[in-house]
Amino acid sequence: MAPANAPAVDLRSDTVTRPTPGMREAMARAEVGDDVFGEDPTVNRLQATAAALLDKEAALFVSSGTQANLLAVLSHCQRGEEYIAGDHAHAYWYEAGGAAVLGSVQPQPVPMAADGTVPLDRVRAVVKPDDFHFARTRLLCIENTCNGKPLPRDYLIDAGTLCRELGLALHMDGARLFNAAIAQNIDAKALAEPCDSVSVCLSKGLGAPVGSLLLGSVEFIARARRLRKMLGGGMRQAGILAAAGLYALEKHIARLVVDHVRAERIAAVLSERFPGKIRQHTNMIFLGLPDGQLKPFLAHMNAHGILVSRPRWVVHLDVDDAAEARTIDAIRAY
Ligand SMILES: *Cc1c(COP(=O)(O)O)cnc(C)c1O
Repeated sequence: MAPANAPAVDLRSDTVTRPTPGMREAMARAEVGDDVFGEDPTVNRLQATAAALLDKEAALFVSSGTQANLLAVLSHCQRGEEYIAGDHAHAYWYEAGGAAVLGSVQPQPVPMAADGTVPLDRVRAVVKPDDFHFARTRLLCIENTCNGKPLPRDYLIDAGTLCRELGLALHMDGARLFNAAIAQNIDAKALAEPCDSVSVCLSKGLGAPVGSLLLGSVEFIARARRLRKMLGGGMRQAGILAAAGLYALEKHIARLVVDHVRAERIAAVLSERFPGKIRQHTNMIFLGLPDGQLKPFLAHMNAHGILVSRPRWVVHLDVDDAAEARTIDAIRAY
């Protein structure tokens, strides 16, 4: 067992990462200016780097993934229009109804398939005809990864084709897009290609303390920039934060594979203890245990300094060799 003063291993989420010394150094050295004037060189460099990485015309640095998705919906849709999203998608379920509250944009949820896709026959079935009884359907939102699962590339292509046929825009909530790209060994550009807009979180597995990016055409990003200002999201010397994001894009994408491998090894040990009950995708592990079995096991892990609060465990940048070993020891001690 680890010494009592060993720091806890926090597997509650990949949002708990703290900036590394190298990242803090980059933040401390960041050149800054007033980003509302468009004059912060570090923000501009982050946006240009991200746009090149995903082969989109333009990018916007925003406060959070929630803000990025909200800006996407509001930039694609007008009042009285609607967006389609999976019934458990973050952009429908976990964003406080922002599109409806702040944009008067109606959500049209659609039951998701087990692989995280929004089935395209169901999308087709809920798109409203041009009739004054109905809200105008404008946008399809998909999520990648979804509960850790990368969306199949063919699905992305088919979703893009369907959206073009139906005159919808396609937005990808790519909070963990780089996990998908690394897991599938596909260039992230190819995943972004069928989509009109993409959001990406810098503050999850990539390890930045704050921030997300929204990407799309120049015209789309200009609309989003105006709306970001309206929402109070115009930040001034934001280069201090953007420097962390830039560092994350440069240094922390390729290493995501390490998180996936650790998750796989931890899941394998969990499977010895709970055969057939454990699923793992990219950096996430799901324990399919009934409450009566789950609760005492989570309590045991907490008592061994492994912070877990849900049947979902997430591996990230701050889980090193020692933390992985400690997690595995604690599982074996159960
Ligand atoms: C975390 C997350 C977001 C929102 O990000 P915040 O920065 O927490 O607002 C959006 N979509 C998905 C899929 C996420 O996991």
